[in-house]
Amino acid sequence: MTYHSTMTKIDAPQQPLVKKPTVRPDLQTVTEVTHWTESLFSFRITRPSSFRFRAGEFVMIGLPQDDGKPLLRAYSIAAPTWDDTLEFYSIKVQDGPLTSRLQHIKQGDQIILRPKPVGTLVHDALLPGKRLWFFATGTGIAPFASLIREPQTYEDYDQVILTHTCRNRADLEYGRSLIAGLKDDPLIGDMIDGQLEYYPTTTRENSPCMGRITTLLQQGKVFEDLSLPAITAEHDRAMVCGSMGLNTDLKSILENYGLREGANSDPAEFVVEKAFVG
Ligand SMILES: Cc1cc2nc3c(=O)[nH]c(=O)nc-3n(C[C@H](O)[C@H](O)[C@H](O)COP(=O)(O)OP(=O)(O)OC[C@H]3O[C@@H](n4cnc5c(N)ncnc54)[C@H](O)[C@@H]3O)c2cc1C
Repeated sequence: MTYHSTMTKIDAPQQPLVKKPTVRPDLQTVTEVTHWTESLFSFRITRPSSFRFRAGEFVMIGLPQDDGKPLLRAYSIAAPTWDDTLEFYSIKVQDGPLTSRLQHIKQGDQIILRPKPVGTLVHDALLPGKRLWFFATGTGIAPFASLIREPQTYEDYDQVILTHTCRNRADLEYGRSLIAGLKDDPLIGDMIDGQLEYYPTTTRENSPCMGRITTLLQQGKVFEDLSLPAITAEHDRAMVCGSMGLNTDLKSILENYGLREGANSDPAEFVVEKAFVG
């Protein structure tokens, strides 16, 4: 009997039975979720080391659908550029294709983050000035949540004014707590003292300052309340982020002050971006 005759043939190694999950480079992990009201929440996700953006830009994020295709929407990045994680501030639209699901995300879940951030609410699209105004309504505060935590904002301007208008007081809470925490921020805590003004207003519920920001500007109440001179093309620069209606009205108010709309390729005195379509 030869040794060979008793040997069983050894086949080439089999493919492993458990299929490795497909690695999607654009899937990021949720690290934190905060619900501010029944219709507003913020969340943080991991940031790929290759992901670069300019403060004020937006990016496409979303969730995979049942058929595996991504469902994506534009979102302003609310985190400053130096942050390890990416923060977003979101509406919850009950029958909205994305946010009806996104509002249920929790720590450890994965969401899609597309690479190329873009946008016009960036320092590069404005000419140098003395004062920088951020005009926001609703979730339109998100790009400014990034810009007010960016050292360049305070290096480039003597004064920075953030106005935020919402229907109810609770809708202001995300911005209010952000501002309250800035003084303890290790990077810009010392820079903002006396340089940053916060001007929250409500249009429905009673609050210390009521009214649409457009009306308050036209009445001169904003300047009175903040002890500031009226806006001029020489000294003032502005960024606007709100509904189509607010954007159109503010654009015409700013143009009446003599400011011109700028763009990345053609910097001027103000820039505008939609907070949402609709
Ligand atoms: C440049 C850009 C930046 C944006 N950044 C943000 C952001 O930072 N945070 C955010 O929540 N959304 C942002 N949006 C809106 C976002 O892209 C989605 O529309 C939103 O997430 C709702 O998605 P959805 O699929 O649930 O409903 P959609 O089908 O997209 O919207 C349904 C309807 O809900 C209303 N709606 C949508 N978004 C808002 C909103 N933010 N505030 C009030 N009403 C709204 C509109 O009437 C819209 O027609 C941005 C949009 C644009 C164009």
